Amino acid sequence: MIYPSIIWRHKTNEKKIWLTFDDGPHSGITPWLLTVLKKHKIKATFFLTGKEILKYPDLFSQIKKEGHVIGNHSFSHYNGWLTNNATYLDDIEKCQELMPKNKLFRPPFGKVGFNQIRKIKKKYKIILWDILTMDFSKNYSPKKIEKNILNNVKKGSIIVFHNNLVSKKNVTGSLENIIIKLKERGFSFSSTW
Ligand SMILES: [Zn+2]
Repeated sequence: MIYPSIIWRHKTNEKKIWLTFDDGPHSGITPWLLTVLKKHKIKATFFLTGKEILKYPDLFSQIKKEGHVIGNHSFSHYNGWLTNNATYLDDIEKCQELMPKNKLFRPPFGKVGFNQIRKIKKKYKIILWDILTMDFSKNYSPKKIEKNILNNVKKGSIIVFHNNLVSKKNVTGSLENIIIKLKERGFSFSSTW
């Protein structure tokens, strides 16, 4: 493993998986996600950007009130590979001001440099994933996403969906089926990090 300080999957013998949602909040999809998660009694983890939190403070409150875990996804959603370290780290702290107790960070695009990691890991757990749903891709349909997840899920898997409009069609078309099928296979959902 290249970056041992990054969490890609949980080590567990239990049939547990971690559902995570990146970006947002956004009025066009977050209310739908919250309704589905509530219906299936699932607590998920939302990696939110500061700029979107400021646009939708009520949704930010609602996510927390409904018992989901929130994490830092930076303020401006910069690509770490293309951003100098000072700017990148400041941008994380700008988001953190909105969630001062938070200990989790997910790099936008999953792209974060070695020197950035060295600094970030002193304060945060850096969370990536082992299953990328590809929900943002035009080449992926809800069916293909469902198949990809069901074929690749393992004990401890961290699955990433997106809480934005680009992914809306694929997320709303697949999430509930996936939850139901994973439950049928005996998986439960955790938001404990
Ligand atoms: Zn993102």
